[in-house]
Amino acid sequence: MAAEYRSRMPTWRRLLAAVRLPLPVHQWLRPGGPVRTGPTPEERATIAAAQAALAHMLAAVRTEVTEVGELLAVVEFPSDPAPGVSDALARALDSYDAAARLVDDVADVVELAGVVVLAGDARAALVVAAAHHRREAVPPLPRPCFFNPLHGRSDRTAVWRTGYKTTLRVPACPRCRKAVRRGDAPEALVDRAPDGRVVPYYAVDTAHSVWAATGFGAFRPDLAARVQRGEHRTRRRGHRS
Ligand SMILES: [Zn+2]
Repeated sequence: MAAEYRSRMPTWRRLLAAVRLPLPVHQWLRPGGPVRTGPTPEERATIAAAQAALAHMLAAVRTEVTEVGELLAVVEFPSDPAPGVSDALARALDSYDAAARLVDDVADVVELAGVVVLAGDARAALVVAAAHHRREAVPPLPRPCFFNPLHGRSDRTAVWRTGYKTTLRVPACPRCRKAVRRGDAPEALVDRAPDGRVVPYYAVDTAHSVWAATGFGAFRPDLAARVQRGEHRTRRRGHRS
């Protein structure tokens, strides 16, 4: 089941590689927005390439959300469900609903990562529901890499030192686990803090970012509900200040 689930995941790392361009991320967080007055022709070409890559990635993400919606549309809700089935189906529906709302309104690459995570959660919840329905053991399902959910999912964790005596166990992809083991900074998904600094997304004040507050679901299970309530818009207001 877990293998079947994994095989259907899109290759986000490949897509992400397409947008890894030598351009500060805050310059393309808002595709289409002005960068500054009078960019050089070279800068203009680089920005256009980044925007095209981001648009390509968004199209792939939109296809994934549509596929998850089609899966949900053909699920037959059992009239006398086995224990666990209803909860898992409700989670799949909530995660899909949040992904579908967000994908039509994506402001930047951090929110795009949010759609990827939510659509993946919906798929994972469907796998769990199916296991409960067949009265099989529920498979351990991989979770998004905490440092950058676009790295893909992993069923392994890294022990991440967040302070002098503080450590957290977080899901992490092989490359990020290796970096943490070496004591290096993982290749994190970056975001722009309200003061304008470009930092790892999890370093943004949790009051400003639902993604930092939940670790894209690594710390809290209510990411879908928060997006359904529109809490991700707080971060957008921070970007405008
Ligand atoms: Zn990673």
